[in-house]
Amino acid sequence: MADRIRLLRPTLGEAEKKALCDTIDSRWLGRGPQTIAFEERFAEYVGTRHAVAVNSATAALHLGLLCAEVEGQEVLTSTMTFVSSTEAILLAGGRPVFCDIESDTLNISVQDMARKITPTTRAVVITHYGGQACDMEPILKLAADHGLSVVEDAAHGCGGSYREQKLGSMGTMGCFSFQATKNMTTGDGGMLVTDDESIAARVRQLRWCGITSPTWERFKVDQVQRGWMYDVQEIGWKYEMNDLAAALGLAQMDRLEACNERRRELMLKYREAFACIEGIDMLAAREYASSSCYNAVVRLDDREGLYTHLDACGIDTNVHFYPNHLFRIFRPYTTHLPVAEREWQRILSIPLYPELTDGEQARVIDAVCTFAEGASRQSVVAG
Ligand SMILES: *Cc1c(COP(=O)(O)O)cnc(C)c1O
Repeated sequence: MADRIRLLRPTLGEAEKKALCDTIDSRWLGRGPQTIAFEERFAEYVGTRHAVAVNSATAALHLGLLCAEVEGQEVLTSTMTFVSSTEAILLAGGRPVFCDIESDTLNISVQDMARKITPTTRAVVITHYGGQACDMEPILKLAADHGLSVVEDAAHGCGGSYREQKLGSMGTMGCFSFQATKNMTTGDGGMLVTDDESIAARVRQLRWCGITSPTWERFKVDQVQRGWMYDVQEIGWKYEMNDLAAALGLAQMDRLEACNERRRELMLKYREAFACIEGIDMLAAREYASSSCYNAVVRLDDREGLYTHLDACGIDTNVHFYPNHLFRIFRPYTTHLPVAEREWQRILSIPLYPELTDGEQARVIDAVCTFAEGASRQSVVAG
């Protein structure tokens, strides 16, 4: 029996082991030189003036939304996202207003956003689903017309772009995840990027208990300034990244482009393989987007059947995502979103990660095709 094929898997090697060992040998594990170097390199890569490293994308979204001052205000958001993007709105005191999605990309519907803007709308959170850009031009125009902050949830989007601009760099701020399944990982970690100096400064403060000058800088200037003389102006959180994570992040950045290239190659292979299969399709690829290809989604009516079949073939799958507006905790904000309610039942993410071999991918394609042929034979018999 062949090994089970995982759904998502990080690419890690000797470079990551060395980065961790070097950091251990340095005896500086907290936020320090590795984190600073990672922030500088990430900002340059994404093309923003600032990057602030935190311990998750959830933390980045939470602090970013606090800076957007959404307290008591409405925040438009896609229902097709990880639950923490909605939780971050509530943690920042905002009121989530769920928007429906485009059926062929699962990205937020700009038409529905426009319909749901009210005088109390303060911000929008847009998730670049699977690393494929939302339609930024009309979104940015809508936001500018109504004075809204744009928070890009680029948790899937490391290395993805919209018309040559990197995801995360176009809104007021962008939030990235380095959780273990994402395109690059630090175990857990996140980054907030922005061109806005005041947002960057406030997030730097809030991520470490509201303290106004972090340890590393104090340590460096200890001769001229007493290191314990810091101040706290507002209560913050314990959200900063540490140097072990940042060292991993730097090593992962060396691989990011090559890894994303392999992801795109695998995605293209899936597209070709499923192009002429009756009853199964993949998400649309927009001409304005170069996707980072976080996940590969197939769509079909009998999603449950395909899940069971692939599971029996030793192939892991998952559903990204159960629409947020259907969760019990978000019931006070729920609404009817017909496209999301229909489409989430038709989607299944199938294995996609850089180290997936051609042979393993052929096994996945084979299993999907076998299922589809069985299903179409049955419908012929039934018809
Ligand atoms: C993973 C994910 C997050 C949360 O990232 P963490 O780093 O785990 O906090 C947020 N939004 C989306 C769309 C995600 O997929």
